[in-house]
Amino acid sequence: MAQKEARPVRYEPVIGLEVHAQMLTETKIFCGCSTKFGSEPNTQICPVCIGMPGVLPVLNKKALEFAIKTGISTKCNISTYSRFARKNYFYPDLPKGYQISQYELPICEHGYIEIVVDGNIKKIGITRIHMEEDAGKNIHESTSGGGNFSFVDLNRAGVPLMEIVSEPDIRSPVEAVEYMKKLRAILRYLGVCDGNMEQGSLRCDANISVRPSGQKEYGTRTEVKNINSFKFVEKALDYEIRRQIKVLEDNGKIVQETRLWDSNRGITESMRGKEEAHDYRYFPEPDLVPIMVEQKWIDDMEAFLPELPDIKRERFVSDYGLPEYDADLLVSEKALADWFEDAVKLGGQPKAVSNWIMSDLLRLLNTENKSIEECTLKPKQLVGMLKLIENGTISGKIAKTVFEEMYKKTKTTLDVTLPMLKVKMEMKEVTAEAIIKEKGLIQISDSGKIEKLVDDVISKNQKEVERFKAGEEKLIAFFVGQVMKLTKGKANPKMVNELLRKKLTWKNL
Ligand code: ADP
Ligand code: MG
Ligand code: ZN
Repeated sequence: MAQKEARPVRYEPVIGLEVHAQMLTETKIFCGCSTKFGSEPNTQICPVCIGMPGVLPVLNKKALEFAIKTGISTKCNISTYSRFARKNYFYPDLPKGYQISQYELPICEHGYIEIVVDGNIKKIGITRIHMEEDAGKNIHESTSGGGNFSFVDLNRAGVPLMEIVSEPDIRSPVEAVEYMKKLRAILRYLGVCDGNMEQGSLRCDANISVRPSGQKEYGTRTEVKNINSFKFVEKALDYEIRRQIKVLEDNGKIVQETRLWDSNRGITESMRGKEEAHDYRYFPEPDLVPIMVEQKWIDDMEAFLPELPDIKRERFVSDYGLPEYDADLLVSEKALADWFEDAVKLGGQPKAVSNWIMSDLLRLLNTENKSIEECTLKPKQLVGMLKLIENGTISGKIAKTVFEEMYKKTKTTLDVTLPMLKVKMEMKEVTAEAIIKEKGLIQISDSGKIEKLVDDVISKNQKEVERFKAGEEKLIAFFVGQVMKLTKGKANPKMVNELLRKKLTWKNL
């Protein structure tokens, strides 16, 4: 009897993310020190945030407000009674010997974020959002004299963080990235976090396990720390999924542990065994009173929340007739959505505006590594150019050149203004019209002129004319191309096409 072949087991990844978001408050969470990034080490510190004995922390109301706004925006229940807890551990960047965090009573619980997976909306549960203080930073340096030194910079100690913990609802690295992107967009729309992953204002620890498809119980998980870009979220998870599957296929066991993502080598490495909650000896923070929040304050915040990305996307689709894809991309950044909407309000046709943003504007910004906030080109300039395409002054093809020229010129005009004057100088606006005049890019729509060119091309390409007559209709593109070449692309393509067909057909008779 033939032996039954063992069927390969398929595995399903299970992922839950713990995201730390640095809140955009002016001052730290329990003292008045500045939160500004990039200052000289230990210049933004005081007895409270360096953990001197006998000091008392006082909660920054703005941090509480930001956490609550995030909770409302992710459909969480907001606790009217919550409190801080001490999480005890020793590390040189934590002089107090404990971090003030929240534990059994976090400020927000049981929410969700919607992401789009294969065109369908999927909800990713939010377990909790809690507030906590950041630790300082250790800096390790070797000097030219051969010594190794470690320094501690406490500027970051006490900077307010939100930890946003997801349910293990994520099923692939791509979903994890979508979740992170949506969360980042929400935080940025709310203005509660700048979402700068390179500077560490948004960081992610990824918990991941795999299980045989169909199995209900979750597998043992590992936690990957130190992921600071969307690309690395995907790569680190991809790596870890493959590593875990391999361990299981080799009849091994996954060890519950904390691993570190090494972006240079593209691998995760074991860092330490997983610490359990009891290792931290959590207990209620005795130096801070419980947080009591009035429902009215929560309701007021909800009433004045800005329009968030999901709602904006729906509105862009229904009000402007944009495809979901366009709308989704445009609302990913509020400034981008605003740029689009300003152009439409100035009379730009929505789909045309969207096309120019997605293909040309973003490409040009991208080549300079610039964000839409740094874009000097104004919606009005694009709309002016669109009008010239509509009325036939330029062709869509020439417009590509005009747009790029307009973009570059606007930038250089701004670069030469004297920044030290600190006054907004009245500048002559760069318009599409001016560029067209300067470069002589106006479309040739004079039928007499075009006819001459068409005749010229026909008489110089008799071989092709014969072939066309013999039925090679697609050669029309060749003739159009020749006329365009003669005019450097400026001939009205519609007119060229019509005239060529007319002439070639006459010759056919
Ligand atoms: P800890 O605070 O010890 O890291 P939590 O219970 O708060 O543990 O869970 C942390 C994260 O791990 C959550 O985002 C959760 O969704 C995720 N998680 C829990 N169990 C699993 C699992 N088996 N596989 C993948 N992720 C998991
Ligand atoms: Mg954890
Ligand atoms: Zn301080």
